[in-house]
Amino acid sequence: MMPKRLKMGPLPADFEQELRGLTTNARINHLDGDRVEVEAPFTGETIGWVASGSEDDVAEAFRFARRAQKSWEHVPFGERRKIFRRFHDQVLRNRELLCDIIQLETGKNRASAFDEVLDVANNARYYANNVEKFLKPEKRRSALPIVAKSREYHHPLGVVGQITPWNYPLALGIGDAIPALIAGNGLVAKPDSSTPFTALIAFELLFKAGLPRDLVQLVTGSGRVVGGAIADNCDFLMFTGSTATGKILGEQVGRRLVGYSAELGGKNPMIIANDVDINYTARGAVDACFSNSGQLCVSIERIYVERATFDDFQHAFVQRVKDMTLGSGFNWETQMGSLASANQLETVRKYVDDAVEKGARVLTGAKARPDLGPYFYEPTVLTDVPEDALLRTEEVFGPVVYLEAVNDLNEGIEKANDTNYGLNASVYASPETAWRVAQKVESGSLAINDGYTTAWAAIGNPMGGRKESGVSHRHGKEGLVKYTASQNITEQRFMSIRGPESMSRKAYINVMSAAMQLGKTLRILP
Ligand code: ADP
Repeated sequence: MMPKRLKMGPLPADFEQELRGLTTNARINHLDGDRVEVEAPFTGETIGWVASGSEDDVAEAFRFARRAQKSWEHVPFGERRKIFRRFHDQVLRNRELLCDIIQLETGKNRASAFDEVLDVANNARYYANNVEKFLKPEKRRSALPIVAKSREYHHPLGVVGQITPWNYPLALGIGDAIPALIAGNGLVAKPDSSTPFTALIAFELLFKAGLPRDLVQLVTGSGRVVGGAIADNCDFLMFTGSTATGKILGEQVGRRLVGYSAELGGKNPMIIANDVDINYTARGAVDACFSNSGQLCVSIERIYVERATFDDFQHAFVQRVKDMTLGSGFNWETQMGSLASANQLETVRKYVDDAVEKGARVLTGAKARPDLGPYFYEPTVLTDVPEDALLRTEEVFGPVVYLEAVNDLNEGIEKANDTNYGLNASVYASPETAWRVAQKVESGSLAINDGYTTAWAAIGNPMGGRKESGVSHRHGKEGLVKYTASQNITEQRFMSIRGPESMSRKAYINVMSAAMQLGKTLRILP
């Protein structure tokens, strides 16, 4: 059975034409039955709907993707590179449309939306430029030089499953799909139910750039049903979301021994040394804590400042936070937008109220702003947060940070590491000090004299969570090779590795031992 065309609607007039033009062509699975309404957090209005997929939809999506993948894996690297380089250009060319739809679905400020555009273009260019270098068959050294010839091959795994959250619907919705696809795989992806349109547009741009349509199947719907079925059918699972869901999915794919990459929660620390430029640091800290209203897995939620600098930093930082512009505009200047949903507002409020009731001091914020929109919440800075406050250790995933003075950098490192998470961290200090401190912090990425952006954008360097913050990595060679099966092909030449048949086993043992010894001494063995 052919999947039916996407059904959705109604949408605001401004977007209807563009979205319809883009999505009526998208082959996504049939959507009769339950609907998922999509809300604009700026106003709380419903902007459209997509249907809620079933397990059968997912099974059908895999059938289509598997069939398309059989041809795609034979497409030469050069062709694949062209498609993804064209996609790069399409993304930059369509940046205003992409920012519009991201903002509409998530309520974030426009600068945070544009970060997603940059990230996807960065990903597309990097993997297009490097796919051949990373995946072409590679000569490997064998146990016995000359008599054996060994090569490593990378084969696509088949169809990759992808489950993504709502906070970065473009960057996470398609960023991790780029290496999966360019490596020769198909994809069945579930965007978050509250942000499906961004993913639809992003993949439509990829189809326009030349990717075969059936290769990617998007199925919208509930996490448990659609996400669960993807985990049950995929040949590799890429997940971004909460640690709780990450554990469920890890168990699920573990039962089938399918590979898994997950970026999960964090409680990311920043350490500030005495020798910093206060103004530069305060500006960076605002960006680190409040980009995307703090709804960012790598954003900073706790700041440890060396005692001599604490008061100056607190003063400069809090002043900047108080001066931030909040609002629902589609302009480029607003510094912070809305939270993404009623749930998010409830969660943030719960964490802040709990901390304040237990004795935390509010330096600024700590209140909702219904005058701006239904889910707005002020950027919030706390201090004197008591040990039993939930947000001391739990991830808020909102615009909330607490400050604490430490006696020295070692205490800062100790406190930074006192967590079950290990996703991102930041150190502000003179470079010499910062590089030394950085390596002692147990995080998958660490930004020096920046909050997170510089490490995230260093696309050639893999990043992933330690401890309960994730498994495996995205970015870099590893972010591509993880989507492939390595194969060791080795040819024995001239004679058997067991030696000539006429040779006694005793003589063979002596010759082999001598050869091993000599090979090590002369350094001709790997
Ligand atoms: P968040 O709190 O950021 O929404 P979640 O981990 O709950 O994080 O959700 C991230 C993604 O995982 C979403 O697309 C959601 O629909 C999906 N999801 C949630 N629960 C499950 C589950 N049990 N199985 C598969 N996917 C799920």
